[in-house]
Amino acid sequence: MLRLSGTIKQNAVTNSGITKRLFSNIQCYDSLVLGAYTENGTATLTASKDISKKVHNLIEEHLRVSNFKKAGDVRTLYNIGGMKQVAIVSLGKKSEVQDTQEAARRATALGLQALKPQGAKHIGIDISLNAHGAGEGAVLSQFSFDKLKSDAKEEDIVVGPFSETENGELDWANGQIYGASQNVARMLMTSPANLMTPKLFAEEVAYLLAGLENVEVIVRDEEWAARHNMNAFLSVARGSVEPLRFMEIHYKGGKKGDKPHGLVGKGVTFDAGGISLKPSNNMALMKGDMGGAATVAGALYGICKLQLPINVIAVTPLCENMPSGTATKPGDVVKAMNGKSIEVLDTDAEGRMILADALYYVSSKHSPASLIDLATLTGAMDVALGDVFAGVFTNSDKLWNNLEKAGKTTSDPFWRMPLNDGYLKEMKESSVADLNNLGKGRSGGACSAASFLKEFVYGLDKKEEQEKIPWAHIDIAGVMDSQGTDGYHIKGMSGRPTRSLIEYIRGLSSN
Ligand SMILES: [Zn+2]
Repeated sequence: MLRLSGTIKQNAVTNSGITKRLFSNIQCYDSLVLGAYTENGTATLTASKDISKKVHNLIEEHLRVSNFKKAGDVRTLYNIGGMKQVAIVSLGKKSEVQDTQEAARRATALGLQALKPQGAKHIGIDISLNAHGAGEGAVLSQFSFDKLKSDAKEEDIVVGPFSETENGELDWANGQIYGASQNVARMLMTSPANLMTPKLFAEEVAYLLAGLENVEVIVRDEEWAARHNMNAFLSVARGSVEPLRFMEIHYKGGKKGDKPHGLVGKGVTFDAGGISLKPSNNMALMKGDMGGAATVAGALYGICKLQLPINVIAVTPLCENMPSGTATKPGDVVKAMNGKSIEVLDTDAEGRMILADALYYVSSKHSPASLIDLATLTGAMDVALGDVFAGVFTNSDKLWNNLEKAGKTTSDPFWRMPLNDGYLKEMKESSVADLNNLGKGRSGGACSAASFLKEFVYGLDKKEEQEKIPWAHIDIAGVMDSQGTDGYHIKGMSGRPTRSLIEYIRGLSSN
């Protein structure tokens, strides 16, 4: 278990006016992670003012003879300046580091990953480059999911800030909250589907938010969904013996009466495809088909921890999509909450079905100031953008600008995709219903899914009212998992873009 210590007073020595020791804070840590710019064969430590000249020279001497230069190079020195281990991470040339937050995030992760296997227990992190980024990197790089392994070891590592910067401790603590929030989403997505059913998901999130201020979690059941005519949602859940849940989180950090900002997350805790069964190859990954719900829950955790001055309503429809004798069959027709009838041509296009009712519910009942939904929705999204960007479809330039800015800050970025009724054409050609849920299938599949969802956002389904609610649909199918570990990116379910969501809401709350 990683303990996060953000409160250690690390500058007692230097602030008290006593002559600087070899490393300030030497009394707290047995090991350090330091950053260094490298240029023309010399390395310059970013925390140089917190390190005695003698030790600084010694470190530079070591680095010079070890061919230390490329960004991401790590060298570990032992028994130096009273520290058991010091990992130094190259940031590359100073002139080439434009995004200090990302550089700190990555360097912190690489340094910690170098020290951890060697038994370091109390690790100080150089936060002089960017304390927020260092805080994120420290927490994100420590994520692991081994609680189901019989030989799992309880880790007891304390990580804290080293070096002195303005607002350093606060930024470091906030960065840790961002990182921990993404780890919440990773944990929810990584948990096997038999241990993260709709019911267990709702319980886990309620537990995580319990005790935090200004937040209320309401968990609805099937009977409630039926009373609200959420037949599109019910049609997906009916194939499974696991009961559905509809979770609503109200966060009230803003002024009373201020409209809330809406977040909706697709929560299919396992997607077998239903009667339109998926191929068995890689089907295990479909435990992550609740990534939308997981990132929304993770973001709410961060928003509550930071106590942002804003109102947010988050909603996650949770169910399994399974084949069985009670499952919805291709060709079945259901009437969604907003009264539109849908012909289910493909039971594996279930995400848009459950989101249809969730989007209508939030947009019609809670009149949000803005509305964003997140979903691991289409394979076509992965084909289009891979795992670098999440695709955003939106009717609002302002919303897009805010999301783009947030994604750049967190280095978990977005790319704008087209929202156009041209993609609806084939979906409107059902001979028995208002819409079918398939369209052209793979061809432009991410775009037609987005156009389908728009038909269920209150006010956007009618031409004359199309600008009413600023709405964005984010397809996160491509960024759902990481193929390998690289710095703070850990192999497995990614929990992206949780930090970007928090940053986006924080941007709104500071306006
Ligand atoms: Zn599906």
